[in-house]
Amino acid sequence: MGPLIAANDLVKAFPAARRVKDVLRGHRPLVRAVNGVSLSVAPGRALGIVGESGCGKTTTARLLLRLEEPTSGSVIFDGQDVTPLRGAALRPFRARVQLVFQNPFDALNPRFSIRRTLTEPLRNFGIPEAEHADRIADVMNRVRLLPAAAYLDRHPHELSGGQLQRVVLARALVTGPRVIIADEPVSMLDVSVRAGVLNLLRAARDELDLAAIYISHDLALIRYVCEEVAVMYLGHVVEEGPTAEVVAAPAHPYTRALVAAVPVPRVEQDRGALPLRGGLPDQSHQPSGCAFRDRCPLAFDRCATEPPLLRSIAPGRRAACHLA
Ligand code: SF4
Repeated sequence: MGPLIAANDLVKAFPAARRVKDVLRGHRPLVRAVNGVSLSVAPGRALGIVGESGCGKTTTARLLLRLEEPTSGSVIFDGQDVTPLRGAALRPFRARVQLVFQNPFDALNPRFSIRRTLTEPLRNFGIPEAEHADRIADVMNRVRLLPAAAYLDRHPHELSGGQLQRVVLARALVTGPRVIIADEPVSMLDVSVRAGVLNLLRAARDELDLAAIYISHDLALIRYVCEEVAVMYLGHVVEEGPTAEVVAAPAHPYTRALVAAVPVPRVEQDRGALPLRGGLPDQSHQPSGCAFRDRCPLAFDRCATEPPLLRSIAPGRRAACHLA
């Protein structure tokens, strides 16, 4: 089956803070937060975008949601290029591509009851009032807030963190989306309730044949819920492929470092861990050649002069490293 949503060579550049020598030269540096990202997701499949904070994964999600204008590149939804759409022309797309927010404590209006929280998006997207009760009952059932009548007239402060995140998921589902984009969907929750929320997300995806995109710094979470993974570093996709294969045999040194950081039983521990040097460099002054070379323990001369291309290394797998 073809992709339901796709990014084609997306670039997002922001003006960067200027250093003294930039001011003296009249130079206005740009940060390429997203630098030529292409990816796609088919119905019923889940893609994880993983990387450190600042790698560009959240900006990629905002571009896919059309919450940011790309500097170049395009977003294709259900075969249509939605990049040129603005204002009212974007409304059908917004109903169909929904975001599951990271922080349920901020995402919900504390003055709205759960019923009103779920009714507002139905009104905003012009869904007939006659359908509201059935749709709300359906999503309350999907997120297992039952009996629904016990929750619908409550307010956010009367619910636990796990229940609030279920309401956030219900609100994302109530408009009948075809794509769900979840940005760190359980990072604010207690460990004890994370698996329950992830299982609900996965069940909704399977039952409704949704395309799902998960954004996370946590490769263990991505391994749990996503068949495919794209690893990002400084705005680039540096490795992608089936999650099980990438985790079992990472090809890029950065992916190897991420995999080594995932807690596992000791018997599995020898995975060729590579110690990373330093932290993420200043994005506005990236190194020449490979963007990862300042931190890469395997860097050699060619890495300083020639940026590695994201190229096929096996069926379904690509990596951007001269050694891959
Ligand atoms: Fe390391 Fe060079 Fe590969 Fe970049 S291209 S990841 S610096 S070995």
